[in-house]
Amino acid sequence: MFKKVLIANRGEIALRIIRACREMEIGSVVVHSTADASSMAVRLADESVCIGPPASKDSYLNIPAILTAAALTGVDAIHPGYGFLSENAQFARMVEEHGFTFIGPSADHIEQMGDKVRAKQTVDALGLPVVPGSDGGVESAEDGLQTSIDMGFPIIIKAASGGGGKGMQVVTAAEDFVEAYHTARIEAKANFGDDTVYIEKYLTNPRHIEIQVFGDSHGNAIHLGERDCSIQRRHQKLLEEGPSPILTQEQREEIGKLSADMIRNLGYLGAGTIEFLFENGKFYFMEMNTRIQVEHPVTEMITGIDLIAEQIRVAAGEPLTVNKNGFRFRGHAIEIRINAEDPDTFVPSPGIITRFHAPGGLGVRFDSAIYGGYSIPPYYDSMIGKLIVHGRNREECIRRLSRAIRETVVEGVKTTLPLHEWIIEQPEFISGEYTIQWLENKLSEKLADKHAEE
Ligand code: ADP
Repeated sequence: MFKKVLIANRGEIALRIIRACREMEIGSVVVHSTADASSMAVRLADESVCIGPPASKDSYLNIPAILTAAALTGVDAIHPGYGFLSENAQFARMVEEHGFTFIGPSADHIEQMGDKVRAKQTVDALGLPVVPGSDGGVESAEDGLQTSIDMGFPIIIKAASGGGGKGMQVVTAAEDFVEAYHTARIEAKANFGDDTVYIEKYLTNPRHIEIQVFGDSHGNAIHLGERDCSIQRRHQKLLEEGPSPILTQEQREEIGKLSADMIRNLGYLGAGTIEFLFENGKFYFMEMNTRIQVEHPVTEMITGIDLIAEQIRVAAGEPLTVNKNGFRFRGHAIEIRINAEDPDTFVPSPGIITRFHAPGGLGVRFDSAIYGGYSIPPYYDSMIGKLIVHGRNREECIRRLSRAIRETVVEGVKTTLPLHEWIIEQPEFISGEYTIQWLENKLSEKLADKHAEE
């Protein structure tokens, strides 16, 4: 087992990894920017190394600085968390070339899944159902238009190297295609440095359901059930739950088995998430994330498995403990993402947290790196924490979440807590009958009602 691990990340996930290391009696080193000098991760890690100024490109994305810190502190392995360098194949490769272990899959698998066109072709060949679409990247507007006409509108144009819900264009009619195609390519180039785009059939009212998978170097490959991430705004997840309120046991087992078989055939190592759209009883593969996800605690709560610890064990060459010990799904879990944003306009709200109180009690987990007096820097993602609640069933879970939200105090900055309180009171949420379009439609209605009142 490793003696010391370097964490190339910040915020709640850095803390989460430190916690796993401590329970495994592994030393932890966190790297940080000057803006994060007083972060909780820096306080709680065994060691910390400042690697650069606030801008991510100079610190959390600065590969030479991170590798230097790893060499200076004598770590065995590097955990990339999520975001930043976690899906950067070049980083994974360089980590290994410098004699450290990358806590994640092989650089080749990251590369293969990072190109979404290649990923779709790969999993299609390995037996997963994919969203119908163009056969690879689309080289010209004419080709794209023809593909779309053959498939039928609406369609969605997506960046092959895309992520974070950015740069997608939905096209409902042929006459709008050419302009959308050029916009998509320009945005793809600007955001991801690669203007390859591809086309998919646009599913009008699906759910987003993803399967947590895990593989080790002993030939074991398993799935740990699903998370339903259909509560989204602008293609970004706000709330996740598991199990999905609409899947039957049969559907769950079938897609879980297909997913586990896929990664076994791939020889995939570590944690991964296979994302599907689900419509009219059918699954359609969208993409695979080759890292730990923000919403991994949902799975931890219903399985009792520490996914970060498993990642570390598997990277160290040990077999999955869950495979040996087995596990059982228990109850229901919901996670909400707490962002430092105005809950109505979603404008970021960085600044000092003047007062803070974390919720508690049975089944309540608060994963965050904030504290009273903490200053949220304006340079990074606005997510400041996650509230995760477990209950014996979905109904209990929602009631527990409602009371836990009301217990939470974050003053000095605006947060999305009031938005979540409102979401979980809506009849469509309570009945579980929502799709990825639901929240945005509901928010527009809410806004219209507000204007009508004024
Ligand atoms: P990213 O990597 O940027 O998050 P994804 O491919 O995972 O991109 O898609 C993000 C979200 O965009 C999905 O959860 C879904 O809401 C929407 N989406 C993507 N592809 C389609 C599609 N073919 N039809 C309908 N919605 C889609």
